[in-house]
Amino acid sequence: MHASNQGRHVSGAEDLVALDAAATAAARFVERALAAGPVEEVVVRVEMLTRVPVNLPLLPLFTADGPAAEVRATARVLLAAAGIDAGLAETVMAILSAGAAGDGNNMRGAMLIDSASGLRLERDQRRGVRARHFALASELRATLPDELARAGYAHHRTLEGWLLATKMVATPGALAELCWSDEPTYTTGYVALAGMGYVRLPHLKAEGDPHGGRALFLAPGSDPALATAWLEDTPCLAGGPVNIHPPQPLAALMKALRS
Ligand code: AMP
Repeated sequence: MHASNQGRHVSGAEDLVALDAAATAAARFVERALAAGPVEEVVVRVEMLTRVPVNLPLLPLFTADGPAAEVRATARVLLAAAGIDAGLAETVMAILSAGAAGDGNNMRGAMLIDSASGLRLERDQRRGVRARHFALASELRATLPDELARAGYAHHRTLEGWLLATKMVATPGALAELCWSDEPTYTTGYVALAGMGYVRLPHLKAEGDPHGGRALFLAPGSDPALATAWLEDTPCLAGGPVNIHPPQPLAALMKALRS
């Protein structure tokens, strides 16, 4: 589903479901788009998969606990654990803060960044690479939203971000992902570290800020075409085991991530 207003993206979402559940899923997306605010157009596409989905284990979920003023420093420390230079992390945060499409607007997709050179590798730097074809494995659909809500994470964006991050950092060559939403009231972002975890970062941006985006850091020499094919075309289902950790300060977090 893609909703827009006056030519601007408002919201988007997708799901992988069995054929007999497709109509209900499409209707739910339309309802959600219309309820979210003014929209001029809601486009829903129903597509048949031609490949069997890849099963991915959900990244362990963590939340950083600390003062809002230190959260970007925390993001830099986390990214450093994946080998991302602090200066590059800072530059990428500045790009996201300004609107990564280059004209003050947000991108529709993610930046792909060579972690050694800092160069952007996506073909279209205004749009970025948009990951699609990912969903929660069927055995978790009935239970995981409640489990998350019980842990204090009832917002639908937590699950959506977690799922997307699980696919993003499973990209060939991916080291880490940095994200915060472009929704002005949703200020929690995250750093996802390949093979380690998905770390929620409350207050990663200021309340009211309309800018957001995603950056996927790739190991030096990674093939951006391969990464793009994975993100755009490879269907993935994220399943268990489910690990949801309570909020913890950075030092404890780093220890838990490495264990
Ligand atoms: P959201 O978390 O939906 O507010 O999205 C924040 C930003 O992440 C958007 O402005 C896009 O730049 C990027 N983004 C959203 N969805 C995707 C996706 N499926 N694949 C890649 N990037 C995305």
